[in-house]
Amino acid sequence: MKILFASSEIYPLIKTGGLADVAGSLPRAIRNLRHDIRLVLPAYRGVAARAGKIKVLASLGLEGAPGEIPILQGRLPGSTVPLYLVDCPELFDRDGGPYSAPEGGDWPDNARRFALFARAVSALALDRVGLGWAPELVHGNDWQTGLVPALLSREARRPATLFTIHNLAYQGLFPSETLAELKLPPDWWSLDGLEFYDQLSFIKGGLVYADWISTVSPTYAQEIQTPEYGCGLEGLLSARADRLSGILNGVDYRDWSPCNDAHLVRPYSVRRQAGKADNKRALQEDFGLPRRDVPLLGHVGRLVEQKGIDLLLEVLPELLARDLQLVILGSGHAELEQALLDVQSAYPRQVGIRIGYSEPLAHRLEAGADMFLMPSRFEPCGLNQLYSLRYGTVPIVRRTGGLADSVVDATPERLADGSATGFQFEAAEAPALRVAIERALALHAQPEAWRRLVTRGMQQDFSWPRSAQHYLDLYQQLVAARPG
Ligand code: ADP
Repeated sequence: MKILFASSEIYPLIKTGGLADVAGSLPRAIRNLRHDIRLVLPAYRGVAARAGKIKVLASLGLEGAPGEIPILQGRLPGSTVPLYLVDCPELFDRDGGPYSAPEGGDWPDNARRFALFARAVSALALDRVGLGWAPELVHGNDWQTGLVPALLSREARRPATLFTIHNLAYQGLFPSETLAELKLPPDWWSLDGLEFYDQLSFIKGGLVYADWISTVSPTYAQEIQTPEYGCGLEGLLSARADRLSGILNGVDYRDWSPCNDAHLVRPYSVRRQAGKADNKRALQEDFGLPRRDVPLLGHVGRLVEQKGIDLLLEVLPELLARDLQLVILGSGHAELEQALLDVQSAYPRQVGIRIGYSEPLAHRLEAGADMFLMPSRFEPCGLNQLYSLRYGTVPIVRRTGGLADSVVDATPERLADGSATGFQFEAAEAPALRVAIERALALHAQPEAWRRLVTRGMQQDFSWPRSAQHYLDLYQQLVAARPG
């Protein structure tokens, strides 16, 4: 099968979150199942230099482009997956993130940037570039590619389209004038099109026009059909429920396995767990904490409301009255960052906070902590709980989205039958989080029972081949039903 996979971030070339991990792993897994999958990404600054030997394929004349847009071809690093880069320096060759300026805040021309990207993806999908390669299916991801299914829906002969929601909270909303400014079809301006409360919604392009919608866990696929999680799109999503499903993300265990992780001070595995203690001591040192044998709780992630950091802040005074330590790596909202730094100043021997982004430290934290906190308000899939399981770092999670689908709560029954892998709590409230942490601490005080829990978690298999097979089944179904 021939598949074009479009994403606005791909690990290891550019990453802000879980989407990059998926876009860097799933295509490789599909390739390993012997299908011809190719990636397409904007040529952000520095990306082409890291994408192998680059060929200039062709230039495209696109609506809204400052001139002819070259399409470059390279490879996804460490793989044989071809990578197309849409090379529009005026829009993509800048310092800063893929969506925001170095000083923070969205790029003011994001609508133009990702409309152009979508037009380029559509042109590739229809082989208007003249490569002699036309995909049977285009797999788009998140609002940055939302216009792709919408544009393709206007073609009589076109590939099938799948649109995956990695996070419904990010919708690509722009002022109503944007539609005309971008010379998008005027008939898209309707409730059944891309209008969303008088704004232009890029994500609706995917949700309304794609042949199928998927999201990154079965539970999130259900949740987004409700007002609590639907971000105002629950009506549309429930109307399309017969074309909406959830496939849990996988983990790339080549990057995330404690038995061969170059970032760790000592490897360990489910059979030889002793090395974890060395990593704990190293982590305490990394964060300037005393090397003591007390429970060490950790968190890595974007410091935003979604992740329930405020709930954690609420329980900290009570929690820190106990003999334990906490380490956090992340960046995000300034007030949450500051609140965490304030806690560190108040409890310098118990709390270590690192504001910033560090891949090596994220690995060391996964390896060194005893427990990993994910009190997310919502979590489409979540990757850190999957990494935590493999690293023997017991996840404490809110029962939502992919967290509900991947962690087995240590109830007395699940402990007795040996299937428990972590701790869940239901209400997005501080007391519920506190109870879950207390349950974890109580079990941690029983070394044998704790070891069984850790071991069971480390044995879980969330590798990509299984998830990739689910995607492939879906691709095949959609291609068989393809129009034209
Ligand atoms: P989201 O996509 O909502 O940010 P996920 O759990 O799906 O959440 O994916 C987050 C990914 O980004 C994980 O691989 C996580 O380790 C990584 N990550 C987030 N913040 C940081 C950070 N400050 N330093 C290193 N890695 C980070």
